[in-house]
Amino acid sequence: MKEVILIKLGEIVLKGLNRKNFEDRLVKNIKHRLHPIGPFKVKNAQSIITVMPIFDDTDMDDAADCISKIFGIAAFSRACVCEKDIEKIKETTGKYLEGHFSRIKSFKVEAKRSDKKFPFTSPEISREVGGYLAELFPEVAVDVHNPDAVVTVEIRDEAAYIHSEVHKGAGGIPVGTGGKAAILISGGIDSPVAAYMMAKRGIELTAIHFASPPYTSQRAEEKVAELLKKVSEYSGRMTMYTVPFTKLQEEIRDKCHEEYFTIIMRRFMMIIAQQIAQKNECQALITGESLGQVASQTIGAIACTDDACTIPVFRPLIGMDKGEIIEISRKIDTFDISIQPYEDCCTVFTPKHPRTRPVLENVIAEQNRIDYEPLINEAVENVKITEI
Ligand code: ATP
Ligand code: MG
Repeated sequence: MKEVILIKLGEIVLKGLNRKNFEDRLVKNIKHRLHPIGPFKVKNAQSIITVMPIFDDTDMDDAADCISKIFGIAAFSRACVCEKDIEKIKETTGKYLEGHFSRIKSFKVEAKRSDKKFPFTSPEISREVGGYLAELFPEVAVDVHNPDAVVTVEIRDEAAYIHSEVHKGAGGIPVGTGGKAAILISGGIDSPVAAYMMAKRGIELTAIHFASPPYTSQRAEEKVAELLKKVSEYSGRMTMYTVPFTKLQEEIRDKCHEEYFTIIMRRFMMIIAQQIAQKNECQALITGESLGQVASQTIGAIACTDDACTIPVFRPLIGMDKGEIIEISRKIDTFDISIQPYEDCCTVFTPKHPRTRPVLENVIAEQNRIDYEPLINEAVENVKITEI
């Protein structure tokens, strides 16, 4: 049986004059993301996008899984393609919906006839197909008011389409319509979730990771790449910049007062991240911070961190509890990778008593004990680039 996927657009239908741009971008993203699965024709008409495989042996389970992770899609259905002949339509509907009908108790049939040359009217098609299904599946009742499933039969110019099960889409808006931003990614639970959440709002991602070998290992870096690969199933591909951060961290350890270690390190991260962001057309930074989670995530600490950069910093997890963040990390399948125990540069040289209410002037005075500009330039010049 030949299948296609019918896609219902999400929030983009609200976008007024920009709507065409959003739709075009979504179609482009769908084509791009389906590319590794095989060639498809993607057609957009009247707010329904139809995805048709060119070859009959295309893996449509893979295609459906891929589509369930593309932002900008409210819902989608797999549909069976059938010749426009009422007997063939009845038979095909029965075969195609066998699995679905074993899980439901009631149904109704809705027909849509856009090919007006088809010899049956919409109510006639519904009656014919409904009667056939009722006989074939006597344990499933007809219920026109509140059915478990609506079986849709569409008669279009090129063929008839039969579908019933509606799957929830990933929601959000198409990646790329919201500009570009850089996610500061650690190996933890929070930052991959933050990346996913901003991609959902249409942001194209670039990733920045700070590594401090030999205090952090090659395996810790690989773990971050693995996390980004999971995120990229939603966000599309991205570039990861790994920043050599050891010298700056050692300077902080050697020259600054211990209680300021973390806050100064975070300021250097922001300065470096902003430089990498600006070189790569990113208009904002993203972090996985959540208010009050650790000492460096109090209002005062965040104010001192933000002071180090001028572009906006998005913190989509700021008001979320750890439990809520974990729930999303399980959904996007990053949780099991995140909990693997590898060290992060944030966990080397951690102070016993970090300042939770740092005063900006004092932080800057401490920071100025280091001749940091050449070290920052050196770190930016020596970033390692990995394509995810
Ligand atoms: P996560 O679970 O994302 O590691 P966390 O709760 O452990 O977050 P911190 O270690 O304080 O929090 O880091 C806060 C944020 O700083 C992270 O969410 C991330 O955006 C950024 N960050 C931390 N470590 C790194 C790193 N090695 N490279 C890049 N960004 C980092
Ligand atoms: Mg961390």
